[in-house]
Amino acid sequence: MFNKILIANRGEIACRVAATCKRLGIASVAVYSDADANAKHVSACDEAVHIGGSTAAESYLRVERIIEAARATGAQAVHPGYGFLSENEDFAHACEAAGIVFIGPPVEAIAAMGSKAAAKALMHAAAVPLVPGYHGDDQNTELLHHEADAIGYPVLLKASAGGGGKGMRVVERSEDFPAALASCKREAASSFGNDRVLIEKYLTRPRHVEVQVFADRHGGAVYLFDRDCSVQRRHQKVLEEAPAPGLSAEIKREMGEAAVAAARAVNYVGAGTVEFIMTATGEFYFMEMNTRLQVEHPVTEMITGQDLVEWQLRVAADEPLPLTQEQLKIDGHAIEARIYAEHPARGFLPSTGTLKHLRMPEGVEFVIDAAGLGEPGRKAPVRIDSGVREGDTITPFYDPMIAKLIVHGATREEALARMSRALHACEVVGPHTNVEFLQRIVASEPFATGDLDTGLIERHHDALFAPVKQPFKEALALACAALLTREGGTAHGASPWDALSHWRLNGGYTQTLGWLTIHNSGEKDSVFMVTFARDGGTQTLEHDGVREQFTWSNGSGLHEYRATIGDARATGRVFVDGDTFHVFCLGHALAFEWQNLLAHAADAEGGEGRLTAPMPGKVIAVLVEPGTVVEKGTPLIVMEAMKMEHTIGAPAAGTVTEVLYAVGDQVADGAQLLVLDVQ
Ligand code: ADP
Ligand code: ADP
Ligand code: MG
Repeated sequence: MFNKILIANRGEIACRVAATCKRLGIASVAVYSDADANAKHVSACDEAVHIGGSTAAESYLRVERIIEAARATGAQAVHPGYGFLSENEDFAHACEAAGIVFIGPPVEAIAAMGSKAAAKALMHAAAVPLVPGYHGDDQNTELLHHEADAIGYPVLLKASAGGGGKGMRVVERSEDFPAALASCKREAASSFGNDRVLIEKYLTRPRHVEVQVFADRHGGAVYLFDRDCSVQRRHQKVLEEAPAPGLSAEIKREMGEAAVAAARAVNYVGAGTVEFIMTATGEFYFMEMNTRLQVEHPVTEMITGQDLVEWQLRVAADEPLPLTQEQLKIDGHAIEARIYAEHPARGFLPSTGTLKHLRMPEGVEFVIDAAGLGEPGRKAPVRIDSGVREGDTITPFYDPMIAKLIVHGATREEALARMSRALHACEVVGPHTNVEFLQRIVASEPFATGDLDTGLIERHHDALFAPVKQPFKEALALACAALLTREGGTAHGASPWDALSHWRLNGGYTQTLGWLTIHNSGEKDSVFMVTFARDGGTQTLEHDGVREQFTWSNGSGLHEYRATIGDARATGRVFVDGDTFHVFCLGHALAFEWQNLLAHAADAEGGEGRLTAPMPGKVIAVLVEPGTVVEKGTPLIVMEAMKMEHTIGAPAAGTVTEVLYAVGDQVADGAQLLVLDVQ
């Protein structure tokens, strides 16, 4: 076994590999870019080498620089993770030339599977079933068109060198073929530097089912069962599970054996995944082989109790496979959800930013406790693989994955329920995430019943994106509780606003709190008012003209609050970021922005109240209407300029007779905003 290895990757997979190294007593070396100087994977390793600028091309894709780092640190082997250089023949070759072990398959196997077309030719020879299609060398446009016509529409055009869901075109009709071919070739050439294409029958409502295989240098080859990865967006996986639900033992064995045959056909060594596409009636066809560890490998680890990174290291160190086919057993069911910083409602566009608050469900990181594995009773039911910590930034340079959430259960139902609870416990403030979207898929009928196919998200688009009813009132009550706490009040003690005499009314007091709702889209609603009142021991909140009893207290944990409003009650967590209150309650995330009217009013009082705009800007709230009786300092209008808010307070007591601007209006410096009839 090795003493020291270099991990040529970043993020969660680098941390994942480092965890196994630590457990096995192998020293690990991280490499990092400028953007990753303080990244989690750097601290997860024993040593770290800076390899260049922030873009992948300047760092994680620099073959020479990485080999040099391995040499300089005395690493005997390099683990490439996935993505980046993991399926790069030149890199594997360069490692070999430098006398460093590449923890992956032989160069020839990478090359054989690197071209989807060539791989299909090989698989055909090995009697592995293929989707009807054309994968020949002749790329003559007319010939391709003729082949597509013969296969029958719809057909799928794929870039032979493609990956990551790129370079694919569905063609519905013969007359659309020439244009689709031209565009597929263009994308293939620009993304993969090779415009070769292949054509496949486009299966309708297929499932993506794949098989984990492993082979050693001593003639051993096994499959570690199957995974279903049908839930995809843009042909990229979102939720994965093992074993693939609803398949007969016979089909599973046939697929496993076909996958092993595929691996043997290319003299495979190490971890690999053979991807199949499966029809509704259970016919399966070879799609491609990924010659690396797969993102979703943890679900296989969860059901087999094996550490696949350990297997990779052992095989790379020339050891035989740890277990035979007969010794491998499936225990229960596992599901993985990929938590991404992205905007599902905006076509899943990546989102970036600092993770101001990050809370994952209770679970273990990278469960690879050898003692626990294989002993179902001790297996952790929730595993979190994450490459970031609170305070880290999701940059535009790399994959925007925040974490993988993996759950295990004795049955699929148990795993599903656990996944639902785990997703509800995720809290992220900063970038947008797909957490809520994942919750909805997990709760959706087709997913819950295991009615899986690659069109699930698209077909259920309307239901998955329909507006949901959020626990608005409960969240608002929790936000008010957090605000009262922050401003120095306690559940039973004095209010922070006691000192301000103009809020007192007959011995009790009332306080008007201005809030904006911040929508998931980032849009804000106009200010709405909530009136908090205390009269003796009774507290009330008035919202939307309804006054209800209000009680609240601090919960036991950090950021935790309890509140009741009328007969609704909620326990939740409120993360306060400046004047923005992020509320996580009842499985929902809501955000409110506090309009600090009082501070502004106090400012206004300290200076002079006015009726004119102190700067050019936009009206974001009008707090009074004609007929409102105001005291000196009462907030009248809130303006915003240069991202700063400014509240205009009444210069004197009186009655508002006219409001000259509305929310959203742009106002010039010095413009008169309202008319006040001074008492
Ligand atoms: P897998 O097949 O392992 O589940 P995917 O199909 O999601 O992974 O992606 C295919 C490959 O492309 C993986 O190796 C993944 O790491 C890589 N990949 C996907 N998106 C990116 C990205 N934005 N930057 C770098 N690599 C990526
Ligand atoms: P990549 O290298 O980008 O992962 P794949 O060949 O593995 O490309 O295909 C990616 C996804 O595209 C599959 O998981 C599946 O959802 C869909 N797909 C691929 N081939 C077909 C096909 N013949 N019919 C229908 N869908 C397909
Ligand atoms: Mg694929």
